[in-house]
Amino acid sequence: MGELQHLFDSNREWVKEITTSDPDFFKRLAKQQKPEILWIGCSDSRVPANQIINMLPGEVFVHRNIANQVVYGDVNCQSVIQFAVEVLKVKHIIVCGHYGCGGVIASVEQQAEGVMAGWLEHIKSVYDENQRELVQERDKEKMIDRLCELNVASQVKNLCQAEPVIHAWNTGQPLKVHGWIYNIGDGLLRDLDISVTGL
Ligand SMILES: [Zn+2]
Repeated sequence: MGELQHLFDSNREWVKEITTSDPDFFKRLAKQQKPEILWIGCSDSRVPANQIINMLPGEVFVHRNIANQVVYGDVNCQSVIQFAVEVLKVKHIIVCGHYGCGGVIASVEQQAEGVMAGWLEHIKSVYDENQRELVQERDKEKMIDRLCELNVASQVKNLCQAEPVIHAWNTGQPLKVHGWIYNIGDGLLRDLDISVTGL
């Protein structure tokens, strides 16, 4: 028995659970995916996209990285955006951050080294751009949480400059970009009210 046998066991239990109520679920899913949502979130294990919005396989296309960033030169994220918009024709892209994000904390405290340090530089610039507001906040935790929100806003802005998104808007393809934040402490999502529907 393998070290991770329990994962195979839970997989089989999960399949059984789904097929009991919907015997053709996987057969149907194997034919195509038609998600209407692209989720760009943090890799944090406490923020699993599908579970948070209670969605089944097939309903949400997902990209996750440390601190939910949309970076121009990141071919991974940019390819996901291109595929989601051009091929899947998703109707919504959600950038979802979360309070207490370790990546955001590490960028402020400059704890990261190596490739991580480079990756977190982008958040450092969000901090620098908003320094005047952020230094007013005496409570460190609250300051970090505000930076988590500002980071989402900044990534939404980056997303609106992505070529496939601009092209979709120019050609009248329905596409809305949203900025949300998740609270690990109570499991609730909040809309930051910064949605963008076009140019
Ligand atoms: Zn995070």
